[in-house]
Amino acid sequence: MKLIFASNNAHKLAEVRAILSDHEVLSLHDVGFEQEIEETGETLEANSLIKAQTVSTWLQQHNLQFWVFADDTGLEISALGGKPGVYTARWAGEPSNPANNRHKALVELAGKTNRTARFRTVITLIKEGEVTQVEGIVNGSIAFEEHGEGGFGYDPIFIPTGHEQTFAQLPAEIKNSISHRARAMAALKQIL
Ligand code: IMP
Repeated sequence: MKLIFASNNAHKLAEVRAILSDHEVLSLHDVGFEQEIEETGETLEANSLIKAQTVSTWLQQHNLQFWVFADDTGLEISALGGKPGVYTARWAGEPSNPANNRHKALVELAGKTNRTARFRTVITLIKEGEVTQVEGIVNGSIAFEEHGEGGFGYDPIFIPTGHEQTFAQLPAEIKNSISHRARAMAALKQIL
């Protein structure tokens, strides 16, 4: 069965296709789905479900038989009660600005010694109408300043547990073997 990943993000699609190499994974663009999906949920679980369900309903309306999955990721900082969580992409305001988001994290944690944080990805799979959710977590901490040029988003300030460098400094192969998304994808692979 062909799979649709409810995203048009080229970076994520490449990652997902590499992990699910036994399957054909299509993007929204590939099947002609061009709508904006409003992420109105208050949890990662709710937003990933909204994305998967919106696409699944559209596929049914177009008589297309595919399995569909969607992901949603949040950065959860312990000293801030799990913020920014579901608001990770637009924490410093809209449109989403990664540099401003990182700056906000450093400002909110100024003077705090507890820098513990984690990335969490929730994936929702809809397979013949049956909904399943899996998650992937990478634990770590927020650096005191930005380091590294690689990656994207919060990578220059996130140091995964067991490493001394940020995701932006570590080689992509290391990040992609331990990341929240890689772990959620591994869990998805198990149930496909
Ligand atoms: P999304 O749900 O995958 O779009 O992720 C929401 C936000 O989390 C993004 O806008 C990024 O700022 C951040 N994010 C997601 N994955 C990563 C990552 O691997 N590294 C750094 N930031 C990430």
